[in-house]
Amino acid sequence: MSVLSTAKCRSSSPVLFLILAAAGTLISSEMNHPNPATAGSQTNELGRIPILEYHLIQPLESRWGRSIANFRLDLETLYAEGFRPIGVSEFIDGRIEAPAGRKPVILTFDDSSPGQMRYISCAGGIQIDPECAVGILIDFHRKHPDFPLRGIFFVLPEAKQPHKLFGQPEFEAKKLNELVRLGFEIGNHTLWHADLAKYPGSVVQKQLALAQESVGRMVPGYRFLALSLPMGDWPQEAALAIQGSYKGIEYHHKAIFLVTGGPAASPYDANCQFTRLPRIQVTGNELKYWLKYFELHPDLVFVSDGDPTRVTLPRNQLPRLARNRFANLQVTTY
Ligand SMILES: [Zn+2]
Repeated sequence: MSVLSTAKCRSSSPVLFLILAAAGTLISSEMNHPNPATAGSQTNELGRIPILEYHLIQPLESRWGRSIANFRLDLETLYAEGFRPIGVSEFIDGRIEAPAGRKPVILTFDDSSPGQMRYISCAGGIQIDPECAVGILIDFHRKHPDFPLRGIFFVLPEAKQPHKLFGQPEFEAKKLNELVRLGFEIGNHTLWHADLAKYPGSVVQKQLALAQESVGRMVPGYRFLALSLPMGDWPQEAALAIQGSYKGIEYHHKAIFLVTGGPAASPYDANCQFTRLPRIQVTGNELKYWLKYFELHPDLVFVSDGDPTRVTLPRNQLPRLARNRFANLQVTTY
């Protein structure tokens, strides 16, 4: 069975998110007071962070494919709305680099297809295809230097083509190294999109450890921080998704990404579970829906104070702060 036919994910559930948001977030009139820290935007580092999930980037829009035109439009829209990409490591380390007044967003790309990262011939050699996701992101970053090159690619080292490390067998290692050099991260997605619910623990560990070994060999010393569960399915022994080993090769995922669920809680929020991070599938009007939602509920979105060592939040949300999660974090309330 091809990767594509197994890559079906469950649809997002805005309703579920609304229920969770209503249950977990108390909105007070205090939040309407202007915050002197950042003129114009209401700093709130306990707000939500959208984690966007892309699959194919291709000429035409489809259920599992974002069109090149729409991908460019997504970046333009995110930029105009004040969103700036951050890395998964920034999120789990609680050191968010987004400038003051900006909103972090995490870009994720699953299944390592060529439309995400492709080389093409050019005079005198090869270059990154300006029509693939990485090429589009580089071009966008050139035009908007304050939109950093951040994002994570959940790759498949042993999938059938064209999903084996972005196709183009001769460039597998070169692509992985170039992604890291550019500032992107690489994440685990099993060897070949294995549905981890279907296998005994030994196979689960083999899939995850050998994927780690493969990428660690091509990008010397590279360690996965994150796993995206194929189809969102957990192994029967859920802990094996986080940590395990096979023939002495160990893996340890500090973050695990689901396939649906709406925007994620802030890493400073006690309700945030790093090993159950929800995502927004960017398909159809899903992104538009959530951007509109944040426009209508600006107090629910994470707005940075611009200082990675400090967390700034409305006083009435202090009970939700995960005080002991990060060492040496300074707290400011208003
Ligand atoms: Zn996948």
